[in-house]
Amino acid sequence: MMVHPILGVPAGTIPDEGIRKGGSTGRIGYFGMTRNGGDKMHAGVDLICGVGAPVYAAHAGRVMQAGWQNGGEGKPGAGYGLRVYLADSTTTSVYAHLCHLLVQQGDELEAGQLIGFAGWTGNADPRDVHVHFEIRRGDPVDPVEEFEKIADAERHPPIKGV
Ligand SMILES: [Zn+2]
Repeated sequence: MMVHPILGVPAGTIPDEGIRKGGSTGRIGYFGMTRNGGDKMHAGVDLICGVGAPVYAAHAGRVMQAGWQNGGEGKPGAGYGLRVYLADSTTTSVYAHLCHLLVQQGDELEAGQLIGFAGWTGNADPRDVHVHFEIRRGDPVDPVEEFEKIADAERHPPIKGV
């Protein structure tokens, strides 16, 4: 099962339009957009939300890292700012620019568990509050496509034992 990190509900309960809406807008960041003159690819999607919006674990797993990127306590421009890396055997997900964390390294989480609250730490702007969300399976994949795929599978579970 996969849970939307901002909506906090399983992918299978969200219509595709909702996944796209809850996901990227052209104005902030969609997967694969380039920055800095094209040498840097945006490896995730920017989920628009309010300051202090609850952020949920997209899947079950273990917290691999939780805290400030590079230990750069509150330093402006320090990339992801306050962030969480969550991993299971196939997938790592990343939640960045949070203002407060409720989990720490080594915690075992359920899908949908509250991990922290949205903010604008790192290189984020208070005028465009969002959670930078990544899904990596080895390489980064498009979280919106991933959600659409999983939502589809959850809406139409395979028929067993026929
Ligand atoms: Zn981003």
